[in-house]
Amino acid sequence: MKPALISLAVLALTAAAQAAPTLPAPNFPTYTSAADVQTRCDADLKGAQQRVQTLERRKVDKGWLASYDDLTIYLEDHQNPNDFILNVHPDKAVRDAAQACSLRWGDFSSTLGQNEKIYRGLQKAPKADAIDAELVRLASGDFEDSGVALPKAKRERAKQILDKLNELDQQFNKNIRDAGTRVTFTEAELSGVPESVWAKAKRDDQGRIVLGVDYPSYVPVMRSAESGEARERMWRAKTNEGGQANLDLLAQIATLRGEYAKLFGFDNFVDFNLRRRMAKDGATATRFLDSVTGAVNEREKSELQELRANKAQHMGTPLEQTTVQRWDASFYSERVKLQKFSVDQNAFRPYFPPQQSLQFALRIIERVMGVKYERIDNKLWHDEAQTYVVSDAASGKPIAQLYVDLYPRDGKYNHAAVWPLRGSATRVGRTPAAALVVNFDRNGLTLDEVETLLHELGHAVHVDLSKTRYAATAGTKVVPDFVEAPSQMLEDWVYDKKVLKLMQEVCPDCKPVPDAMVDQAVAAKHYGKGGLFGRQHLYASYDLALHQSAKPEPLPLWAKMEGATPLGYVPGTMFPAGFAHIAGSYGAGYYGYLWSLVVAMDLRTAFAADKLSPDVGKRYREQVLGQGAQKPAPELVKDFLGRDSNSQAFFEYLKK
Ligand SMILES: [Zn+2]
Repeated sequence: MKPALISLAVLALTAAAQAAPTLPAPNFPTYTSAADVQTRCDADLKGAQQRVQTLERRKVDKGWLASYDDLTIYLEDHQNPNDFILNVHPDKAVRDAAQACSLRWGDFSSTLGQNEKIYRGLQKAPKADAIDAELVRLASGDFEDSGVALPKAKRERAKQILDKLNELDQQFNKNIRDAGTRVTFTEAELSGVPESVWAKAKRDDQGRIVLGVDYPSYVPVMRSAESGEARERMWRAKTNEGGQANLDLLAQIATLRGEYAKLFGFDNFVDFNLRRRMAKDGATATRFLDSVTGAVNEREKSELQELRANKAQHMGTPLEQTTVQRWDASFYSERVKLQKFSVDQNAFRPYFPPQQSLQFALRIIERVMGVKYERIDNKLWHDEAQTYVVSDAASGKPIAQLYVDLYPRDGKYNHAAVWPLRGSATRVGRTPAAALVVNFDRNGLTLDEVETLLHELGHAVHVDLSKTRYAATAGTKVVPDFVEAPSQMLEDWVYDKKVLKLMQEVCPDCKPVPDAMVDQAVAAKHYGKGGLFGRQHLYASYDLALHQSAKPEPLPLWAKMEGATPLGYVPGTMFPAGFAHIAGSYGAGYYGYLWSLVVAMDLRTAFAADKLSPDVGKRYREQVLGQGAQKPAPELVKDFLGRDSNSQAFFEYLKK
């Protein structure tokens, strides 16, 4: 396929790289300054308005759905890069300008969502087959959820609320991104923490080490600092990152969502939000969460007893006078794992250098899904960001692209996530693109982090291997309580020895990770399930409770719910202030992580005999990933497994 645009970056290719494929799609836009962002924003929004008007006037005939999808494509190409760079661009002025532009796009979207002419077009458009019908069903649902069918006064209020929610969510994230939280430690306080974490860190005028609360600093301190005080300081700083301002924002967000649901005749936002998802309503989601907590409750308590005994032994205090604090949990859990299973997550770092780990993760996908990744020279938002062209291995044809941004830096989004930038649309030969953003330690990854990498790559693959007719139903546009499943399915590939051998294919000089270390890591993973699922359960239940309350009060509710867990609540901390998921699109939907995991574990059963099976992988690529949202999620799973999905594998895993 010929690229639609030969970019400057392609001209800059070195001789060695000339055999590499060119991008199958236009290059990622460069944003040179805040003014550039704004100029582009004006032009892009104007173009979007014109396209809406053209679609409004268009005759509703058999080509109408394609025209509707053309509009989707225009919006993806112009809005998505802007909404993405506000999270990753190194220049704060550019990020801020992109954020301002994003609010304008939000206003555009909420107006479009209430466009009656286009909504009527969707209702009247001739549908050739089930794929067309599914597009109409999904898109109509989006318009209805935006308030298109409400009486005028309610419709206006709905738009106001949507715009306000968009603004509040952005502010919430900005407060975290720009918080610049720093914690200082003496060298003695960091005893136990690998030197690679702090040796090159800045010092203050008293010679103390200054660390941020980014993952490569936070996690090692929490896991390995011998000093309880040092851990406590780090933990409190991270837990309070968003501050009171974000608690206030979250209260406003949840209140507005409640009001929004009432415009549609729903008691609360949970039931409104879940009605088009797999769970259908709040009661079903809650019942499911209850069954999870029932399965892990005892385990969580017994794990905690073990941590307590370990702390008593470590501190030389009598057991009855020893209490495990929140900032102790990771540290003692690592100690138990070390003593019981000889597992030290840090010990994995030398085996998994970041760049080679990425190659390894890509190689897994190549093997299972029948694709090839080739890195090309390409100018992106940051010099360290990378571009890969994804090709179909059988035909050699470029089918997608992948951008990767591996390392932390100031002002960058500080979790791990994938942005779907372009959706596939076979009707016009449109190839998809995804951006994967993580924050890894340059010294190497723990096995947990390799798992995170594979999880995120799972999202990127979902975008990139989609072969839907319409961009509007591409890749990850599936229901939110299914969207994590393809990623979660891949997580445990990293514990498979046959899979791990692929590391030597991409890095012959890397020492192979010893089998015994992997066995121990698997045993330790089973051991930590009580704490892990207990925490996930708390997050999910909190999110539902917050969005079900008539007068949402984020902190008191959190203090009460976290207070009821075995480790309790620590006064003065405010975890919800950093819980960006629920301020944004995972609001009243966080349960989806656990819900999807049920599906993920069920999908995994097909790979039980061989995680690298190209035959199963091929079917999976065609029947699940390739279909995106053009079939309802339960049907995708049924097509692939040959039966309805069930929760057997999940509950067996919890009990194991
Ligand atoms: Zn995910």
